[in-house]
Amino acid sequence: MKILVVGAGPAGMMAAIHAINNDNQVTIIEANGSLGKKLLLTGNGRCNIANNKPNYQLIKILHNGKFMTKILNNFDINFIHEFYANKGLDLVEEVDNKLYPITQKSASVLDVFKDYLNELNITVRYNSRLDNFKLENGKITSLIINGKTEYYDHIIFASGGLSFPNIGSDGHIHNLLKANNIKYSDNYPVEAPLFSNDKIVKDKELLGLSFKDVKLSLYSSQSAKIIDSIRNDLIFTHKGLSGPGALILSETVYKLIEQNKSPYLAICFLNDLKQSKLAEIIANSDQSIRNVLYDYLPKRLVNYMLNINNIDPHTHTKQVSNLNKEKLYEAIYRFKIQIDQVAPLKQAFITGGGISLDELSDESLVLHKITNLSLCGEMLDIHGPIGGYNLLIAQVTGAFAGSYVKTLKKD
Ligand SMILES: Cc1cc2nc3c(=O)[nH]c(=O)nc-3n(C[C@H](O)[C@H](O)[C@H](O)COP(=O)(O)OP(=O)(O)OC[C@H]3O[C@@H](n4cnc5c(N)ncnc54)[C@H](O)[C@@H]3O)c2cc1C
Repeated sequence: MKILVVGAGPAGMMAAIHAINNDNQVTIIEANGSLGKKLLLTGNGRCNIANNKPNYQLIKILHNGKFMTKILNNFDINFIHEFYANKGLDLVEEVDNKLYPITQKSASVLDVFKDYLNELNITVRYNSRLDNFKLENGKITSLIINGKTEYYDHIIFASGGLSFPNIGSDGHIHNLLKANNIKYSDNYPVEAPLFSNDKIVKDKELLGLSFKDVKLSLYSSQSAKIIDSIRNDLIFTHKGLSGPGALILSETVYKLIEQNKSPYLAICFLNDLKQSKLAEIIANSDQSIRNVLYDYLPKRLVNYMLNINNIDPHTHTKQVSNLNKEKLYEAIYRFKIQIDQVAPLKQAFITGGGISLDELSDESLVLHKITNLSLCGEMLDIHGPIGGYNLLIAQVTGAFAGSYVKTLKKD
């Protein structure tokens, strides 16, 4: 059989590696001039390759995780460990079961893929873009690649989501499928920076300032109840907030904005020192308020908080009024920031939504309506939070789609 894989991200490469056997000739086409461009960017170049949690937990955590049951029963986390160990790359586990290559480099993950592709003689054609395909009686009969018609027996689409379109995943194939009546769940940004028009952002005084392990509590203006709360790192950007803390909450924030529920965050900048303890330190101090706070918080933040509360930084702690102290505690422990927008999809790390799972068999990842077409990876309506879940989804759906195609015989 002649098999075409469209897209050389982790899903497409896995699919090709698992589809090949003596009877199958497998070709990958990739619109970029090289393999795995997005893969190289992952985990800040360290590549959080997967998550080491057992299947039952993964199924609960992932959006549409139930659909993954059969896939994970065939390709679980042990498969991932073995896939890399076979090429001499061990994975190490970090906090929250995140797995990284022992080298801490995404390039070594890509090297493993290159090694398999070479060893298995899989043809990769670069700068080759799928423009269109022709559908007749529920089958793809021909495809237009770089303007020329080509013919394949079975096709696997692994063209990614819609985020970071400048490195390949531009949604063109999603549109082709939609045009052929394939059901689609609306897209939305997941793991995206948060934008705010609040003074703290507009002033730019904190621009670029990052915080380790702050507590973020998410509220909506319609209720005093906490919607979500996490401890993680945060950075102030030109337009608002980024860093893992902001990215993790972005999916829920997006949904609150969609429902006009005006989300805001309360930031606790000082997790490790209780308010009562800080109050005691201030009460017993013989310094200026600024110098006491400098011992616990970044200078830029202290200066900003004193400034917005009209407190002279040189005021002796004994001279700071109780009202001003309360204002400071509010700012340090419960700084409120309204979130007006989540960054657009192209800036998000992950695409929410995608090809509806109703369209696919969970036994094969073949489309019900196009019987010689399989799909895998981020183009599907499955995703997870930060933590290696999305690369895991890409790899196991790719392996599952490929290994099913390997069992097919030419009509
Ligand atoms: C900055 C960043 C960091 C991330 N870090 C992590 C992380 O640490 N851990 C994690 O789990 N996830 C991470 N992710 C998410 C993860 O990278 C993706 O979920 C994953 O790459 C999806 O794999 P894929 O193979 O489905 O798609 P992609 O990796 O996007 O690959 C799709 C490929 O298809 C090609 N293509 C598209 N259209 C066509 C066409 N018409 N013709 C030919 N080729 C085409 C594209 O050029 C692309 O190479 C990160 C994402 C970003 C943007």
